[in-house]
Amino acid sequence: MIILKVVLIVVILFIFHSIVPMYYNKKLNKNIMKNTSKDGQIMLTFDDGPDKRYIYKLSDLLDRYQIKATFFMVAENAEKNPEIVKYLQDKGHKIGMHSWQHKNAILYSYFYTKKDFANSVRIMKSLGVKELFYRPPWGHTNIFSMHFAKKYKMKLIYWDVMAEDWSAKSTPETICEKLMKRTGKRSIICLHDAGENSGGAKDAPLNTIAGLEKALPKLLEKGYKFILPEYNQNEK
Ligand SMILES: [Zn+2]
Repeated sequence: MIILKVVLIVVILFIFHSIVPMYYNKKLNKNIMKNTSKDGQIMLTFDDGPDKRYIYKLSDLLDRYQIKATFFMVAENAEKNPEIVKYLQDKGHKIGMHSWQHKNAILYSYFYTKKDFANSVRIMKSLGVKELFYRPPWGHTNIFSMHFAKKYKMKLIYWDVMAEDWSAKSTPETICEKLMKRTGKRSIICLHDAGENSGGAKDAPLNTIAGLEKALPKLLEKGYKFILPEYNQNEK
């Protein structure tokens, strides 16, 4: 009986610590951006990088179409590649945060969450990132996440379009097809420019880039304009 009670308490705690905040922030929280605010304006975003094996190829492709994108970087990866952060900033792209070590917030305590936010902010600021855009890995948050997001004046940006580009089953064709089918008038597209360390297939970003090579001219032809997020959290 005691074991049953303990299990029940753990389940209830997990629901309130993790499941409720995660669901609320993904579906209901109006302060988290999941679409742009104007028809015809869409956003291209990349998670999990930077990875020097892919970023320059991707950056060249974006240059070809004069598209600016937002890169949600894992702070630990950014710290190892400061030259990439600078390179992308100099090109006019935006740098966002995608946690410190790409851990799943629903499985972590107050203390790790605090460290996760503090270290991410410290690293990104040391790399010259002044606007704090944030996208938690998998869009997962726990009951403490929003407290820290508010404390550091972060602007949270989720997405409404994914193309499963991390999967070993994806090809440039399937990625392009999904992007064309799923992108709408105010979409925020989430792709991945790295990922072996965060669950993606080996060299998946090469498929992502090849898929984009097919999709970008089609999206431009449809009249979509690629925009960057604005940081308006009172203080920078
Ligand atoms: Zn991620």
